[in-house]
Amino acid sequence: MRKKLLSMILATTMVATALVGCGAKEEKAAAPAEQATEETKEEAPAEEAPAEEAPAEEASAGGGKIGVAMPTKDLQRWNQDGANMKAELEAAGYEVDLQYAANDIATQVSQIENMINSGCSMLVIASIDGDSLGTVLELAKESDIPVIAYDRLIMNSDAVSYYATFDNYMVGTIQGEYIKDQLDLDNAEGPFNIELTTGDPGDNNARFFFGGAMDVLQPYIDSGKLVVKSGQTAFEEVATANWATDAAQARMDAIIAANYADGTVLHAALCSNDSTALGVANSLEANYTGEWPIITGQDCDIASVKNILAGKQSMSIFKDTRTLASKVVEMVDAVMKGGEAPINDTETYDNGTGIIPSFLCEPVFADINNYTELLIDSGYYTEDQLK
Ligand code: BGC
Repeated sequence: MRKKLLSMILATTMVATALVGCGAKEEKAAAPAEQATEETKEEAPAEEAPAEEAPAEEASAGGGKIGVAMPTKDLQRWNQDGANMKAELEAAGYEVDLQYAANDIATQVSQIENMINSGCSMLVIASIDGDSLGTVLELAKESDIPVIAYDRLIMNSDAVSYYATFDNYMVGTIQGEYIKDQLDLDNAEGPFNIELTTGDPGDNNARFFFGGAMDVLQPYIDSGKLVVKSGQTAFEEVATANWATDAAQARMDAIIAANYADGTVLHAALCSNDSTALGVANSLEANYTGEWPIITGQDCDIASVKNILAGKQSMSIFKDTRTLASKVVEMVDAVMKGGEAPINDTETYDNGTGIIPSFLCEPVFADINNYTELLIDSGYYTEDQLK
């Protein structure tokens, strides 16, 4: 709550442009619909990397080259993030070196090294592992190349100038509140069974997502209204390496076999994002015959929105990647022109070297009742993509 209030106050008082950048729906970025892909096997990052592409003509107008390092093409959202940012940066007159690292830390490190050595003036990085970029970013610092951490905070490096993300703690509280409202925890008698699944331990966001959700749910677990039959409630127990669907599915298989195979009803599954929600839903489909639980998610990936339409996932957090990309382009442009990037939070994200000035966009949830307005009317997806 404090955090929410704070970011609201900061948003209104510190930066006027903030409201325009993150509140508005009518962003000018390329509609992600074109780039949206189903979850696919990892592709060779080189294929997607337009490092050698001829620079956009406008770049000769003096924009400079921006390195954009993304973690993986495996999840739909990063494809959208990268494509939107490339399109917007090019439209603003910059050349863009966009790289995907197949979720491989060494690949990401060498991509960033290449960006630095090939003359990028600024770096935008969505890290695979927030703790693994310290050394390569020393090089960026020595070369006076500012770094914006994109979506995921880069830890323990003083080379990071800014952080741009959706409010990660709020993502978790929205998921927790959704479960609380759907089960009517304050009025219904219960008890209700719930299982918890979060993301990769190397992704700083995962702790914020899980922490936000647990701040809402823990009191009900403590009072006995919510019961975690598996007993797995600690972050380390419920984490999912690489946010992998398969891993979430395998863990859920074991939980169902041990706790729900006898007809015991699972009422809710907190899942921090869509790839883990998909694993949990797959597992339930294969192993569970009871009443379908409330399942949360995040990203509004196409596969999960389809599951929402089919009644197999209850909600997903909608983080409009066009909004974040636009904001980051604004930040890059401001810094490249010698100014300060817009920020609205100077308290929340300490990366181990101090607080990183941040811009937090506001997430919302999508479910069966509002998806048309949020996802289709806004041009994020076409109706056909969801069939
Ligand atoms: C992002 C989520 C995403 C997850 C897995 C997190 O850092 O904030 O949107 O679902 O990574 O890629």
